[in-house]
Amino acid sequence: MSIMRSMGIRGRLALAGILELIGVIVMSLIALHTMREEMIADRVTKVKNLTELSLGIIQSQYDRFQRGEVSEDQAKKTALDTIRPLTYDGGGYVFIDDWDCKSILLPIKPDLEGRDFTDVKDSKGDYFVRNQRDMALTGGGAVYYSFYKPKSEIAYAKVAYVLPFKPWRWFVATGVYLDDVDMEVRRMLGRFLEMLVPAVMLVSLLFFLISRSISLPLRQLIAVMVKLAHGEYDTPIPATTRKDEIGDITQAVQIFRENGLANAEMQKEIQRSNQELENFAYVASHDLREPLRTVTSFSSLLERSLGDKLTAEQADFIGYVRDGTKRMNQLILDLLEVSRIGRNHEVKEGVDLHAATEEAIGNLQVAIQESGATVMLPPSMPLVLCNYREMVRVFQNLIANAIKYSDPARPPLISLSAQKTDGGWQIEVLDNGIGIPPEHSERIFQIFQRLHGRKDYGGGTGIGLAVCKKVIEHHGGRIWVEPGPDGIGSRFIFTLKTP
Ligand code: ADP
Repeated sequence: MSIMRSMGIRGRLALAGILELIGVIVMSLIALHTMREEMIADRVTKVKNLTELSLGIIQSQYDRFQRGEVSEDQAKKTALDTIRPLTYDGGGYVFIDDWDCKSILLPIKPDLEGRDFTDVKDSKGDYFVRNQRDMALTGGGAVYYSFYKPKSEIAYAKVAYVLPFKPWRWFVATGVYLDDVDMEVRRMLGRFLEMLVPAVMLVSLLFFLISRSISLPLRQLIAVMVKLAHGEYDTPIPATTRKDEIGDITQAVQIFRENGLANAEMQKEIQRSNQELENFAYVASHDLREPLRTVTSFSSLLERSLGDKLTAEQADFIGYVRDGTKRMNQLILDLLEVSRIGRNHEVKEGVDLHAATEEAIGNLQVAIQESGATVMLPPSMPLVLCNYREMVRVFQNLIANAIKYSDPARPPLISLSAQKTDGGWQIEVLDNGIGIPPEHSERIFQIFQRLHGRKDYGGGTGIGLAVCKKVIEHHGGRIWVEPGPDGIGSRFIFTLKTP
């Protein structure tokens, strides 16, 4: 079955052709065989009728003897004299032997009459007369043997129909040659073979034409599809005016190609506008810091030049300005960081994620110690093609958050794990912290989005998860959050493709 499945259309067509030919040959041989059997059955019926006729003659003479009209010898003689001249088909005759295989009547060789045929064999070495006698003793029937034709050295297959005549312990029979049956069968076989050669040629021609009109265009289309699947949208599609399934497939491939072209065009456009946006964010955040520095330094200058003249209220105002500019500076720096992802670290390499997590944990030593957090790593982490520095940042952000948003009721417990999936790896960072309400599970990945007050949980600008999302998506993966087991804590999951 698996061979069938991996067989191409050409192979299947060839197999169907060969099976059909074998079928025709087998059917024809069966037909020939049946024809031969029927011809032989015809012969047997004929010799049976003739044997029965002869038996009738013997019976009628015997009846005369029984009635006392003639002596027994006279009855036998009349029966034999009546049967002896009977011929048919220009050579057929009736013969009679007794149950000891002694010839009683042999019209073609009367000199052998009276001879004992018990040990005489036919051309195949069979005791054919014994066989005929034995058949007669079972009530009669057809006996097959081989025998020389008159005036010939060659033995031919023959069938005799034998019937017993009990009162005189005779058996009467007549036989007919079967060589013409086999000749006829051979002649038919010859004619059949003569027809088989053009039939094979016709089937081969049909196979060639069908295979050319189906499998060849299909193979061309497959080659085109493979190229299109690899993004080679300029690959020309073989022109066709066909209205059949091949025509439909060609049209579908054409549509696929046009969609692919439009998609590629759109991708390019998206990439270009993304690039533009990143450039814009980069330049804007650079340039925004300049006037901010002016505000900071002039508010300090103002504070210093006013010196003692500054009222407490005015000092507060200047403090607000300084805090505002500080926060804005941080926001701009964060924005700059986001816009830098994938910009300077486009290079991806085979990275042992274990090393990346170790470095992230190393960077967080102080926070880990202060919070009394336990970070559990699996014995090994996968090797993936990614940007090492960006992966360190992802782990660092996720572990830092797990510590930052821990539940005061229990020390933070963070465990990392990696699971192989169909197309790559699924990495998980699980904590036992305060958890995230499911309705916010999308929002937290947006830039500058926090769920808490500015100063709660150690503060923050809401940039960490946006950075994680951008890094993971740059690597062709996906990141999301789910509640931890029993609704306690959070489970951050991201995927990384294997190359
Ligand atoms: P930040 O930590 O600076 O606020 P993030 O982007 O890292 O920014 O996180 C966004 C928000 O998601 C956080 O303000 C917090 O409300 C929520 N959050 C992130 N990680 C966790 C966590 N492990 N457990 C609970 N809440 C979290």
